[in-house]
Amino acid sequence: MPELPEVETTLRGIEPYLLNQRVARVIVRDPRLRWPVPADVVNAEGQQFVSVQRRGKYLLLKLRQGGLLIHLGMSGSLRILQEPAAPQKHDHIDVELQNGVCLRFNDPRRFGAFLWVDGEMQLHELLRDLGPEPLSYEFTADYLYQRSRGRNLAIKNFIMNGHIVVGVGNIYASEALFMAGIHPQRAAGRVSRQRYDGLVAAIRDVLARAIRRGGTTLRDFVNSDGAPGYFAQELLVYDRAGSDCFQCGTTIKQKVIGQRSSYYCPACQR
Ligand SMILES: [Zn+2]
Repeated sequence: MPELPEVETTLRGIEPYLLNQRVARVIVRDPRLRWPVPADVVNAEGQQFVSVQRRGKYLLLKLRQGGLLIHLGMSGSLRILQEPAAPQKHDHIDVELQNGVCLRFNDPRRFGAFLWVDGEMQLHELLRDLGPEPLSYEFTADYLYQRSRGRNLAIKNFIMNGHIVVGVGNIYASEALFMAGIHPQRAAGRVSRQRYDGLVAAIRDVLARAIRRGGTTLRDFVNSDGAPGYFAQELLVYDRAGSDCFQCGTTIKQKVIGQRSSYYCPACQR
């Protein structure tokens, strides 16, 4: 599933091809995504892209008036075609530019979203209640500490809640909790201010490293025939159940927390 680093990498991959370019045509071959693709996406036609931004795992392709709001869902991807190419299976939407370049949206499982937004995009109902960006200055140990007081929710579910902080998916939550030495099932309200310092640093570190690694796959967004190859992570605990902890040698455990598989070292994480 595309996570925040993949979405950020997508943004960096497509941005140079869209900025200041004018849309010629929006072609919707199949509108059946998570929500039906609205007919008013054609409002983009004739308009120029003024910015490409990310908010959580949403991409905001802003035009002079309104813009396109895109989510990659479970299996979506965007790529840039510099030459015309026949659409393949699951290539549901094309945004053709007047210079001949095409932005193509592919989504085999169709949990993605492709919406039109009038007016200020940040105020859209899907975006306005989102928590801070994990790589922003607003995301601090103080903030997490304050928001978590009195809460019995497992710390892993707490940091994966988009109203608390956006973009900390299952893999990154598992990895960051290991790096911070915090057991994923510990109540969020019982994590000390000091340990939140370590957790914030770990979340920033694991996401920033993944984004840096993603930079090497940028070429996959251009003229690629398939979906961009998302980058393999060097993982410390995620998907390593039964293997030895790199830090202490104890066997890594797996447990379902909040319906998601969680991986942790029972010795290093308390
Ligand atoms: Zn360990």
